[in-house]
Amino acid sequence: MHNRSPRPTSPVRRALNRTLLALCLTSPWVAAPAAAQNQTLNLYSARHYPGDEALYDAFTRATGITIRRVDSDDAGIVARLRAEGAASPADVVLLVDAARMAAADAQGLFLPIRSAKLEAAVPAHLRAAATPQGTTWFGFSTRARVIVYDPLRVKAEDVATYEQLSHPKLKGLLCTRSGSHPYNLSLFATVIERLGDEKGQAWLNGLVANMARPPQGGDTDQIRAVASGECGVALTNSYYLARLINSDKPEDRRVVERVRVMFPNQASTGTHVNIAGAAVARHSKNVDAAVRFLEFLATPEAQQYFANSNNEYPAVPGVKLDNPALRSMGGTDFKAETIPLSTVAKNLTKVQQMLDRAGFR
Ligand code: FE
Repeated sequence: MHNRSPRPTSPVRRALNRTLLALCLTSPWVAAPAAAQNQTLNLYSARHYPGDEALYDAFTRATGITIRRVDSDDAGIVARLRAEGAASPADVVLLVDAARMAAADAQGLFLPIRSAKLEAAVPAHLRAAATPQGTTWFGFSTRARVIVYDPLRVKAEDVATYEQLSHPKLKGLLCTRSGSHPYNLSLFATVIERLGDEKGQAWLNGLVANMARPPQGGDTDQIRAVASGECGVALTNSYYLARLINSDKPEDRRVVERVRVMFPNQASTGTHVNIAGAAVARHSKNVDAAVRFLEFLATPEAQQYFANSNNEYPAVPGVKLDNPALRSMGGTDFKAETIPLSTVAKNLTKVQQMLDRAGFR
């Protein structure tokens, strides 16, 4: 600590100092010295959840640094960063899905940084590959790409793996959103990394052959279509199901009662997880504060807010989360795939070509 008193301190004072020191070390919610006042951090965010507001307020209370947010969707943020170029006021960029992080990174929109705190907190497979210049993006929450199925038409043991989704047993039962959507691209990229190109192509062909209808809608639409009987099995990000579980609407309750969830590949490679991630913007004028914000996101307290606000899982190992919807889906301790998400980046173009060959729209 910086306050060194020349006077002997009383036992009470010493106890108080110990308490303050403990608070400063353990909690990001403690107000910081006035030195950092008046600083503003421009955050370009594709995440818009109520809990995130509390998180940004906590950062401001802890550091004196104000957050100014620009909200858009992922494509809008990337377009804006490109248009603004070196004049961009962006300091921190928040995007969802590794495929999108990697695409923005490939366009040179992120600044490589070095942070011992981030490297210690965020597992290597949930961030960009390190280069001599540093690391560009880090995952701060994870979402699982799970299987939902109709237990009246599909047996759990027939949908225990992603690989099984191409089995002829499931002919006419599979529903998905577009194959080219980043959520599917990222999953397919890791499956193909494991299977190799030839088996990977056969797997994609098998998915197309099993479809109940042409790809359409978002993940929630697939869950509803399983509940309505139009499909027998579908892929969805875990938080969409959690949202339905948390819903009070009778029609959502009926959907939740009707479907079952499978965390695939528990006996082998683990369930595919993706991330919501953050990076320092290439032309940030507040790099130190931007890195500080990323480090803040990796603290246990911030991890809980960040993950809970969208029913996701903390990216930092060991952070305990109590989210009833996730608990009812089977908890937070499932086996997750550990193929580096940076691998996704390397496979994206190839996967798109393989999807075209398979006729997977
Ligand atoms: Fe989403």
